[in-house]
Amino acid sequence: MIKFLDLQKINAQYALELKQAAAEVIDSGWYLLGDRLKQFETKLAGYIGVKHAIGVGNGLDALRLILKAYIEMGVMKEGDEVIVPANTYIATILAITGNRLKPVLIEPDIQTYNLDISLVEQHITSRTRAIMLVHLYGQACWSEELENIAKKYKLKIIEDNAQAIGAIWNSQKTGSLGDAAGNSFYPGKNLGALGDAGAVTTDDDELAGVVRALGNYGSSKKYINDYQGVNSRMDEIQAAFLSIKLKYLDAENHRRNEIAQYYLNNINHPNIILPQINLKLKTQNSKLNHVWHLFPIRHPHRNKLQQYLSKNGIQTLIHYPIPPHKQLAYKEWNKLSFPITEKIHDEVLSLPISPVMTVNEKEIIIKVISEY
Ligand SMILES: *Cc1c(COP(=O)(O)O)cnc(C)c1O
Repeated sequence: MIKFLDLQKINAQYALELKQAAAEVIDSGWYLLGDRLKQFETKLAGYIGVKHAIGVGNGLDALRLILKAYIEMGVMKEGDEVIVPANTYIATILAITGNRLKPVLIEPDIQTYNLDISLVEQHITSRTRAIMLVHLYGQACWSEELENIAKKYKLKIIEDNAQAIGAIWNSQKTGSLGDAAGNSFYPGKNLGALGDAGAVTTDDDELAGVVRALGNYGSSKKYINDYQGVNSRMDEIQAAFLSIKLKYLDAENHRRNEIAQYYLNNINHPNIILPQINLKLKTQNSKLNHVWHLFPIRHPHRNKLQQYLSKNGIQTLIHYPIPPHKQLAYKEWNKLSFPITEKIHDEVLSLPISPVMTVNEKEIIIKVISEY
């Protein structure tokens, strides 16, 4: 069986370094808010190109804490609107509703699957305070038009960078493009911890301070609580693992890109639609403008194709089978219609893609697909 993502094999590459780091943390007797977190935060901020990186418990918390901090700072309040793509993993939306803000769902572009920026302005109201972008599947979502809209209406731009760490737009990394970004180090992400972890990245000094306090019971000084915070901190052991894995991130993203290019050049099937790169990104001739967290193809009878691939030893996954507005969690939206989002959810299928795939595996996948 060709696995969709072989995490065991990915982490085995670094096993010696990871085990040594784990032993050091165990022996240190210090497990939270210590030097290893500080070191990782400094490295991550340098890598992304921002002033501040704040380690938190997971990617969802990173997004949630950015919005909660803006509420504490008086930038937004309960009931305000946040524009967000309808085509995203539900965590993006949960971060908004969890803060009693109102998501305004917008259709994606059918070519890139990312937010259709041309639809943003018509959805802005007097209550709109932010745009939460998602760099879905690893592809940067950005444009000058978007920056201009945000300036004109004084909106914050928050990036959900969970799937795109390392991606570049115009020589700037995603996670540094907007006012703040949420990053996820869920084990299956391109920079994966060995458990849950996340981070907020931003250039905004005030926001960084409030996020840091909010993730630690609302306290920046022990037993002094300025906000009603939560407990969402990155473990020292995960920070130590992530400092190691960050060194290899660009090389791993280049491997993903090679596999994606191989698929793009070799899959040639009348009913399969391949993922497309935003033309603006293509012209920037940076190889890491898409970091291929996923390689989603589309087929009108996706489930049958998935069964066929599975019978032939190829594991695939669906990202995602049901859009947020059709979930029971958001019953009140179930009657809403987002035809492009729904079409994508009905047709996508993610092929195996990971830095540890072999040439042989890639070739088998191409052969099996061509025989379908
Ligand atoms: C993974 C993911 C998240 C949430 O990250 P966790 O670390 O799992 O909480 C948020 N948004 C998107 C788009 C994701 O893919």
